[in-house]
Amino acid sequence: MLRFFMRFPEGRKKAFTLSYDDGVKSDIRFLEIINKYGLKSTFNLNAGIAKTNQFNRLSLDECSCYEGHEIATHGYTHPFLSHLPPEVATYEIARDRMELEENLGRIIRGHAYANGAYDEKSKEILKNTGIEYARGVKSTHNFSIPKDFLEWQPTCHHSDEKLFDLIKEFLVWSPSGESLLFYLWGHTYEFDSGKERNNWEHADEFCSKIAGHEDTVWYATNIEICDYINAYKQLRFSMNARLVYNPTCTDLWIGPYASEESVKIPKGETVRI
Ligand SMILES: [Zn+2]
Repeated sequence: MLRFFMRFPEGRKKAFTLSYDDGVKSDIRFLEIINKYGLKSTFNLNAGIAKTNQFNRLSLDECSCYEGHEIATHGYTHPFLSHLPPEVATYEIARDRMELEENLGRIIRGHAYANGAYDEKSKEILKNTGIEYARGVKSTHNFSIPKDFLEWQPTCHHSDEKLFDLIKEFLVWSPSGESLLFYLWGHTYEFDSGKERNNWEHADEFCSKIAGHEDTVWYATNIEICDYINAYKQLRFSMNARLVYNPTCTDLWIGPYASEESVKIPKGETVRI
């Protein structure tokens, strides 16, 4: 029996992504660090609070600092989505999405659950408002690919005491099976507290440790990873799995089981493997 596993762009077995919430002024300092190291992040914004000039939020006019990174919704007023009547929850997502899109000139397709609060109804609402993935706050402490993108749980928070052990494990491990995904999240204002594992030296240290492995790690935003995995799911195989067709507009890579080599399946092409 032939078995194949998804590989990330250029055949890499690993991907790393960041997710930072609330759109605060300290995002600018964090962006300097991640840009220096070539990392990619998603930033989750509340348009309703951004307009108030309160709580150290960046105004929507200041959001050009996020160039090169993803912007996602976080609810218009940072709501507990699961605690709201469905029509109000829908408004919270739709208005946030709409104002971010209109002000920033981007299509917004991702979400992070404010306060980590969601239920089955929230997921339906997100689907109906065109949101394709949503992040929770429950650390998995593993590198698994999410089964359900509307319940995408992070590997850990940046202040997790296991962070450096996880980074080490992630970088040395070369899986023959499933590819690995390291998902790190937090709030950049936490670095201002100066506490242990919540200070700017820590931010620089974990970024420097995870960065610089472009040959084996794909550094990408949340939506880039979501899009790639969804495209991979579109691959079509012949009955004997010798032929594979890529009907998408994205080049895709597969890795035969127990092989270090991965095979590129160019967009629109059928490849014999
Ligand atoms: Zn938040």
